[in-house]
Amino acid sequence: MTILLGTRNTHKLAECMRILGEIPGVAWTDPQRCPFPEVMETGASLEENAHLKAKQAAEATGLPTLAEDSGLEVAALAGAPGVRSARYAGEDKNHQANTRLLLQELQDTADRRAQFRTMVVLALPDGRTWQAEGVLPGTISRSPRGQGGFGYDPVFVPLGMQSTLAELSPEEKDRISHRRRALEAIRPAVLELAKGDS
Ligand code: IMP
Repeated sequence: MTILLGTRNTHKLAECMRILGEIPGVAWTDPQRCPFPEVMETGASLEENAHLKAKQAAEATGLPTLAEDSGLEVAALAGAPGVRSARYAGEDKNHQANTRLLLQELQDTADRRAQFRTMVVLALPDGRTWQAEGVLPGTISRSPRGQGGFGYDPVFVPLGMQSTLAELSPEEKDRISHRRRALEAIRPAVLELAKGDS
């Protein structure tokens, strides 16, 4: 069975491929090899956007599709930037501008608690869906550190660690990430699907 990974973000795609790895009976494809029209992320929540992405890509391609929506939720900002994480500082989705704005908003704030949250949805062309969530708690650092990862990784320190996510190796990030937790939670549904298809 071929399953489409419905994200155009190359960082996310690489992380998803590393985390999911080989699953017997499953061949993964992506939007480059199996194109579909751009999905507008008009949902009011990560859940809604993940459903929009997975369902529309599954309908357009006729393939089971795994899609996710992720965001950074900061306690002192009442959960912002959340579903607007990619566009926090503007529509051009500039990671550095987003990070700069976040540090500015928090400069006088002692409460640095935050979490990354991923919602992942597996959608079939016939309309059936499964969903799962992954959360990584942590804090926002005072300044960016590290070259790895993407997005807010340079300012996010996972709970119980000293390093930012951008200072970890890809393997270290994968071991603990919100994406890892969400994908592990949806893995049983993928295995069931692959079994039913064989
Ligand atoms: P979307 O899920 O494509 O709408 O974008 C989510 C946005 O959240 C990204 O553009 C990043 O700014 C941020 N984000 C999501 N996952 C991560 C991560 O693992 N590290 C850092 N930032 C992330």
